[in-house]
Amino acid sequence: MTDRASLEEIASCVAGYDPKALPVAQAQEFIARLVPRVRAVEKVALRSGLGRVLAHDVVSATDVPSHDNSAMDGYALRTADAFDGATLRVIGEVAAGQVATRTLVAGEAYRIMTGAPIPPGADAVIMQEQCERRGDEVTLKRAVKLRDHVRDRGEDVRAGEVVLRRGLTLRAAEVGTLASARRARVAVTRRPIVALLATGDELRDVGEPLDPGAIPDTNSYALAALVREAGGEPRQLPIVRDDRAALAAAMREARSADLIVSTGGVSVGEHDHVKAVLEELGAELTAWRVDMKPGKPVALAVLDGTPYYGLPGNPVSSMVAFTLFVRPAIRAALGCTEPLDLARATVRLEAPLTVRGERRQFLRARVRFADGRLVAAPMARQGSGVLSSMLGANGLIVVDAGMHSFDAGAEASVLIIGPLGRD
Ligand code: AMP
Ligand code: MG
Repeated sequence: MTDRASLEEIASCVAGYDPKALPVAQAQEFIARLVPRVRAVEKVALRSGLGRVLAHDVVSATDVPSHDNSAMDGYALRTADAFDGATLRVIGEVAAGQVATRTLVAGEAYRIMTGAPIPPGADAVIMQEQCERRGDEVTLKRAVKLRDHVRDRGEDVRAGEVVLRRGLTLRAAEVGTLASARRARVAVTRRPIVALLATGDELRDVGEPLDPGAIPDTNSYALAALVREAGGEPRQLPIVRDDRAALAAAMREARSADLIVSTGGVSVGEHDHVKAVLEELGAELTAWRVDMKPGKPVALAVLDGTPYYGLPGNPVSSMVAFTLFVRPAIRAALGCTEPLDLARATVRLEAPLTVRGERRQFLRARVRFADGRLVAAPMARQGSGVLSSMLGANGLIVVDAGMHSFDAGAEASVLIIGPLGRD
């Protein structure tokens, strides 16, 4: 993981860009580099570990499996005795969770069940389907080789071996692996706290009455959900009025978070105060006009050491800009080792598409598998205020600036932002 970049470093890299190339990809990397790694570690119960990010390498305390054991229901025996047609005396039974009561000697077998420890003296297992049992005797219908159907102690994991690396996100397989390594508690990175500031005189919290001209604040809720999905902890602050003093007070309060995200007020309108107030508070500020639609005005700053992401107010723009820029920052703060950028795929368009614009466009689309290939259908309405266009959208079709007409079936490039559907 790269260490934190300075704003000057970022600005100088940005200055070198051809704005018509894809600054978004680089912007993502730089914005991620702006955020300091969260160093605080929490020990959580394994049951609560899903989705968390490992703070340290995890070493197995034991061999897994911890004893040689049978991979089959059958008979444990000595290979020296085990020729085709041999008859052995069955001296007892071991089921999973039990141990043999004595050592096996020549001419003997133990009835054994899957997972049961191999009795001392035995060196192989024959499947029950390959023998014939009569009373306390068993006759083999084939010869057996050394270690047949024996799962070796430590064949999965050896004691002292690193089983999981720091920076890994815990999914089901990781949680299971931690349980098999007997880790009841797991050290994870504290979730980065993301302060959310919704700015706008017109905004009311959901559930509050709407006076004429007012609208519900959707961004705080949608972005809080995106913060959680990214592994952060949202801290939703009260709605901020379009007033410099109020905005300054809210920003000051937000500084104790690991990251600050505001929506609205970042453009050039008369009531857009975000940049001016950041300057007034002495923030290092890069006003960033990323080559993208939706979401062109994105402000990037560092306020008393805390990275600040000023996103546009339109609900779709704020979600898209969050996904492209803030999500990787949260993952970087967590010390995640998997790639920070979104997966990209080539898809076939399900319908003709004509796009015209001065900026690179990110069109919401539904991506799915059809006949084993990825296809994408752009949402019918692409306005940045049309939040319903995000429903079911799991991809962003990326189309360069200019005029482009695609036929149905043409190839397009898509950033994957959600689980893929299928036909
Ligand atoms: P602004 O970026 O402040 O100019 O806002 C652009 C548009 O987004 C305006 O139509 C705002 O009313 C709308 N908007 C801003 N913030 C929010 C929010 N938190 N929830 C819903 N809509 C918003
Ligand atoms: Mg506004």
